[in-house]
Amino acid sequence: MKELVVISGKGGTGKTSIVAAFAALAGKKVLADCDVDAADLHLVLNPRIKIRKDFSGGKKARILEDNCIACDRCMEECRFDAIRYADNTSDTPRVDPIFCEGCAVCFRVCPANAVSFEPAVNGEWYTSSTNYGPMVHAKLGIAEGNSGKLVTLIRQEAIDIARRDNLDYVIVDGSPGIGCPVIASITGANLVLVVTEPTLSGRHDLLRVAKLTAHFRIPTVVCINKWDINPDITEQIEEEAKEHGIKVAGKIRYDSSFTEAQIMKTSVVEYTGGAVSGDIKSLWQHILYELG
Ligand code: SF4
Ligand code: SF4
Repeated sequence: MKELVVISGKGGTGKTSIVAAFAALAGKKVLADCDVDAADLHLVLNPRIKIRKDFSGGKKARILEDNCIACDRCMEECRFDAIRYADNTSDTPRVDPIFCEGCAVCFRVCPANAVSFEPAVNGEWYTSSTNYGPMVHAKLGIAEGNSGKLVTLIRQEAIDIARRDNLDYVIVDGSPGIGCPVIASITGANLVLVVTEPTLSGRHDLLRVAKLTAHFRIPTVVCINKWDINPDITEQIEEEAKEHGIKVAGKIRYDSSFTEAQIMKTSVVEYTGGAVSGDIKSLWQHILYELG
């Protein structure tokens, strides 16, 4: 079983469309949407949810009104300003879960046993079936942290499914950026594909991501999406990738079919047999070669 993680320095590079196309091209595989802060692979793959589970990224405080003596000790000690009175008429303060970082200081200082400190449900995660094979994905609550923990959970579930069902590939739609969620997406993967665009920010993002994957010693290849919108920057990206020991696994031309396929809730390779489809098929062949 081989694991491919597709990432990009920022959102909107076509990463998810490329993962959806791989879903249509790959043989026996499981898909994992680890872009949990902006999950959208489900929009193309139309998963049918089989198992739904709560996700808890950690504990949060809650004030028990019946016990609270309104001494304000918790408010004074909370470094995150997460405890406030709702208005002038409130008898007891409340914890704003968006600001609560789960440090438990209020729980410890409360003289009246009026703070409960329990695992908070931050989202849900799902094991689903799609027309392309099983898929693991999630929905994280707005402004909820700890998405790295959820990413690790989703990846592990996908790997377990691949082992159990004897599948050949785990294809992961990774988190964007270079923070904790993307590190959780890539560590231990067999290959990382970085999707970038020929813009100055795309070039900059590629270098940042390249440093990250080099640090974790993960074999990395790059794909330049919409390469023909700026052939000069494409050439610069190719040269810089070479300097960093990263192969250019493919270049995909600009084609409005990318967006059209998304609207039609299908993959680009199924939507069109045109040249752009050929670019992606050739990219996939290169990926297969690199995965060995
Ligand atoms: S757990 Fe920490 S961050 Fe949350 S309300 Fe209590 S003191 Fe504030
Ligand atoms: S420290 Fe305890 S008793 Fe005092 S205001 Fe906070 S929750 Fe209420």
